[in-house]
Amino acid sequence: MTEPAPKVDMEKIVSLCRRRGFIFPGSEIYGGLSSFWDYGPLGVELKRNIKEAWWQAMVQERDDMVGLDTSILMHPRVWEASGHLEGFSDALVECKSCHLRWRADEIEGNTCPSCSGELTEPRLFNLMFKTFMGPVEEEANVVYLRPETAQGIFVNFENVLNTTRKKLPFGIAQIGKAFRNEITTGNFIFRSREFEQMEIEFFVKPGTDREWFDRWIEERLNWYVNLGIKRGNLRLRQHTKEELAHYARECSDIDYLFPMGWSELEGIANRGDFDLIQHAKYSGKSLEYYDEETKEHFVPYIIEPSAGVDRSALAFLCNAYAEEPDNNEIRVVLHLHPRLAPIKVAILPLSRREQLVAAAKEIYADLRQCWMVQYDDAQSIGRRYRRQDEIGTPLCTTIDFQSLEDKQVTIRERDTMKQIRVPISELRTTLQAKLAGEDFFILPPGGKIWKE
Ligand code: ATP
Repeated sequence: MTEPAPKVDMEKIVSLCRRRGFIFPGSEIYGGLSSFWDYGPLGVELKRNIKEAWWQAMVQERDDMVGLDTSILMHPRVWEASGHLEGFSDALVECKSCHLRWRADEIEGNTCPSCSGELTEPRLFNLMFKTFMGPVEEEANVVYLRPETAQGIFVNFENVLNTTRKKLPFGIAQIGKAFRNEITTGNFIFRSREFEQMEIEFFVKPGTDREWFDRWIEERLNWYVNLGIKRGNLRLRQHTKEELAHYARECSDIDYLFPMGWSELEGIANRGDFDLIQHAKYSGKSLEYYDEETKEHFVPYIIEPSAGVDRSALAFLCNAYAEEPDNNEIRVVLHLHPRLAPIKVAILPLSRREQLVAAAKEIYADLRQCWMVQYDDAQSIGRRYRRQDEIGTPLCTTIDFQSLEDKQVTIRERDTMKQIRVPISELRTTLQAKLAGEDFFILPPGGKIWKE
């Protein structure tokens, strides 16, 4: 089978994100800070929608999951127990002439890709950011910015168990920032030094771990597909024995076909009992589970689906981006799932005439109680549709002169560019139904097809 080729240029995505206010380079007026990004007015909505969709599917709608929100800074012993102090490092080589550093596993041969100088032997470089707690900057006060959210979950395993009376199998989910002093960054928000993770630690009885590992791979693949990611743009990649992390018994990545090629979107690992055993050892607290049915004590195994919010945002944007013919021109459109679209509905009065504006503002005030809605009366209606297409707004509502007479407005759908006309009294429920996936041509009472 031939592999599908990436269809979108990263430059186009970066430029759209910048131009329309999805994502800006961090600290831009100072020349930017390498590999830090700021989410603009539309980006913050996209990111919130991704996180909310994840939380709804993974926590709200499941009996076997609870949420958590833990501190970014944790007791330094956590990182000794987890193995991050010792093992969370990349091997680097340094050029003896220009002193640039490179990841050893990304370099072939012994010459610097920048100046062809000779490279040193590989040396380990820890990826955790360090800072100091309290007023004195000394070794005893070192704390680390967490490089993953998972450890906050492990150290609260007992708290959650005691306060929720959950029984195995069950999971704990968390969304939060993580920090890694990455050596090679780049590819826009794919790899940055500050990013957000959506992580689940799912605790199971040893022996059932293989089955749960497979189930979670399926669950997580379906989540992306249900939100519009094309299945052909996703693949599963099993880690070889050599690449498995120190804690993992097995691991599979969900890769997405990004513009730079197949790359990890999410990792799903079977961590066995490594984490709870380590934290029990370092904290002196027993982290065993008591199974009331079998009267056994044991340390649960953990299945971890770990996804990146920023990588998901990039995948959803790349997946949605299209350039399509529109009459004699080309329109840029983001076919984002309505759930993820930053703006759900645009309100467009046909002109700036006072009466039209008043009617449009009334509708605007009503609809913004339900969703993020945008009001736009600048330039021609065609241009305004294009602007909304480019940011992925699924529906536009246009108020024209006839609306003042017949109390009806048109709704235009982003993907097909078709229109229906509905009574204003039916507008809210109709928009609601369409956003929830109802066929666009199912009409409310008094509605009609406008432009096919
Ligand atoms: P990679 O091999 O790409 O560095 P990883 O295997 O180190 O990633 P994990 O430790 O498995 O990544 O982290 C889980 C998820 O967190 C990743 O699948 C990714 O979505 C996200 N993630 C990890 N590092 C970064 C980063 N530097 N920038 C953005 N997202 C990241």
